[in-house]
Amino acid sequence: MAINNEIFSLMKLLFPFNRSITGNGVRKTLQEIKNYIPLQIIEVPTGTKVFDWEVPPEWNVEDAYIENSRGEKVVDFKKNNLHLVSYSVPVNKILRLNELKKHLFSLPEHPGWIPYRTTYYKRDWGFCMAHNRLLELKEDNYKVVIKSSLENGSLTYGEFFIKGKTQKEVLFSTHICHPSMANDNLSGISVMTMLAKYLYDLYGNDSSGRPQYSYRFLFVPATIGAITWLAQNEDKLANIEFGLVTSLLGDDGNFNYKKSRRGNSPVDKIVPFVLEKKKKKFEVLEFTPYGYDERQFCSPGLNLPVGRLTRTPNGEFPEYHTSADNLEFISPEKLEEAFNLFVGIIKTIEANKKYLNLNPKCEPQLGKRGLYKSVAGNIKEYELALLWVLNMSDGTNDLVDISNKSGIPFDVISKAASDLLNVNLLKELK
Ligand code: ZN
Repeated sequence: MAINNEIFSLMKLLFPFNRSITGNGVRKTLQEIKNYIPLQIIEVPTGTKVFDWEVPPEWNVEDAYIENSRGEKVVDFKKNNLHLVSYSVPVNKILRLNELKKHLFSLPEHPGWIPYRTTYYKRDWGFCMAHNRLLELKEDNYKVVIKSSLENGSLTYGEFFIKGKTQKEVLFSTHICHPSMANDNLSGISVMTMLAKYLYDLYGNDSSGRPQYSYRFLFVPATIGAITWLAQNEDKLANIEFGLVTSLLGDDGNFNYKKSRRGNSPVDKIVPFVLEKKKKKFEVLEFTPYGYDERQFCSPGLNLPVGRLTRTPNGEFPEYHTSADNLEFISPEKLEEAFNLFVGIIKTIEANKKYLNLNPKCEPQLGKRGLYKSVAGNIKEYELALLWVLNMSDGTNDLVDISNKSGIPFDVISKAASDLLNVNLLKELK
């Protein structure tokens, strides 16, 4: 199957699941990902302390609806799981309309859309509905039924690891806690699954060699899941050299790269570099302590080199956190473009080496080594690349820096460096 169809069909499969920060929707989602990669599924018990937080009770839903006095369902969780406020407590009571309305949420500015609401840390309940439908509700006795459970259980997350030649790690993290919405969370889940599969196909068996870096993929509930992983894996954090939090990859918007808190991490250089190469418009945003799980990875006590890559950022498109963020809102082509961007980032990370010129006093004679064939005044790009690599390889610049400074494509710079290495004019710095 072509990659765009593969990404899209996984999203279609996962779309109806009732995901939240805990519960069976997340478990089922991770089980499906396991059909593509040998994902480790980790359960962390309710009540586990994770930094300043605690793993909450597990939430599951059997059914939820509101019925009028004629027995007609006016809101039904089974028709769309966005109808139920996530983490709603169990309810079984009859209410007049004015009492019921205190628990109903709608979007008057988009009267046909169902909003997405949660109440993770406050025991409450509610229903979300299209504003048009809310306006149709008449004075009546309404039966409210929420068959949910909030019990000791666990928080579930997924982790996939590919061991590289070194312990240095590249981390990708995406959130998995949203119910039926496509761009906000399923695009990230699906593109990351296929990216992990791409690496697994390349390096998954012992005979196929190892990547330079180790790669770790996290599929975690937002906030509490990232905090849980970080609290339980503090010993691994020093290995992370490069990290990206991602989602929102299927809409029509340009790519947006948000820098790490450090602002000068390798990821802050390489992602814009690869985006530049794609010759598409993109934005680079400064770090802010709001957004996705970069908030946790870049908290001051951890300060990891983790940036964020999305298309239109969270909250900046009207369909965000509504039923209009559905499978029609995103497109297979945009998902494929995002997938290819990530592949380009990985290829650049793997190929971006730093060398030391072993013959730094004046230029070495390239002609006698068979590397320089131009007649004076007619230098070719490749030969220019040889000169740039030799001149810049003083231990401070890597190949991305040299490509950036020279304006010569990375592949040409990379080829020149490998040829210079072969004739012992360079040494690789680790
Ligand atoms: Zn969201």
